[in-house]
Amino acid sequence: MAVSEIRSILVGLELLDDAEPDVFDDALETAVRAFQQDRGLGVDGMVGDETWGALDAARWRLGSRALYHSVPDALVGEDVRALQERLLEMGYDAGRPDAVYGARTARAVAQFQREVGLVQDGSCGPQTMKALRRLGRKVVGGRPQWLREAEAFRQSGPNLVGKTIVIDPGHGGGDDTGVVVPDGQRRWNEADLVFDLASRLEGRLSAAGMRVHLTRGPSPSTPMSGAERAALANTLGADLLISLHLDGHSSTAAEGVATYHYGTGNGLSSTVGERLAALVQREIVVRTGMHDCRTHAKTWDLLRLTRMPTVRVDLGYLTSPVDRVRLIDPMSREQIVEALLAAVQRMYFPVERDVPTGSIDVRQLRMALADKG
Ligand SMILES: [Zn+2]
Repeated sequence: MAVSEIRSILVGLELLDDAEPDVFDDALETAVRAFQQDRGLGVDGMVGDETWGALDAARWRLGSRALYHSVPDALVGEDVRALQERLLEMGYDAGRPDAVYGARTARAVAQFQREVGLVQDGSCGPQTMKALRRLGRKVVGGRPQWLREAEAFRQSGPNLVGKTIVIDPGHGGGDDTGVVVPDGQRRWNEADLVFDLASRLEGRLSAAGMRVHLTRGPSPSTPMSGAERAALANTLGADLLISLHLDGHSSTAAEGVATYHYGTGNGLSSTVGERLAALVQREIVVRTGMHDCRTHAKTWDLLRLTRMPTVRVDLGYLTSPVDRVRLIDPMSREQIVEALLAAVQRMYFPVERDVPTGSIDVRQLRMALADKG
């Protein structure tokens, strides 16, 4: 990725005034930050793999090329996302607006074509584009995809037994240890601690009757990207995915827990993911007393490319003396796992029988649900 390329994309997005000079100056960094902010990416002003992927996709404006379902390498770009969002606004089931032109997008396009009397080839060429332009802005504001996701979730029933959950311990593999903090003779690292949390949670969820998969072992040989983790969960047909991370900051004063779900700045948000994020966040905050850094909508690969409600939770700052004491203590980790378990239980627990946060006794709940048959 050349600096000139990055500059010209940002100029095209009207985030940067000049394609010159061909250097990574302050103006470019500011533009990159604005882009990252807009796309819900981590804002660091640097162009890493994820930011580059988003920039590369942003070259394409809807209508600048024909779109079709290409196999095996799907077309990816902002134009695909714009098309998906337009289809969703009109009530077609295009799946998540993930910017990937897959089979589901092609089906939604074919359905649209049938209804407006065009040849149903599932491709978006000049004729289809024209029809979309004509009709595309009629219906705005509904979020049918998320309503469908919520309905599918509701229909899957209130029982944990037989549901598949993927637990994703962050990092691991090669040099990717996540946040590392030296402490006397020891060096605490994020990858090992979240793996321990994931294993504990695996045990508890299995005992509750769920099928549980971890995305990685304790020390995988190579690092895994967010997209690879998402693909694994999709292949497993998971009902839920919870990704576990810790945070780090140059200031030791930074502390607390934060949870992330899929959502864009312009109001498209996974309602089920948002609900799971809210449950995870409040169970942990209430049960542990950790500082509440709230829930946030992001478009990270792991959240965007998964086909099931997905959350990522950052379970405190390893760099904070307050949080670290908790994270390195197995009893406190057990308390965090208990909170995560309660949040998952609550997802499937009928709303009308909801009980105050922090007070769920998981065994009682399981018996109550078993009673219901
Ligand atoms: Zn992490």
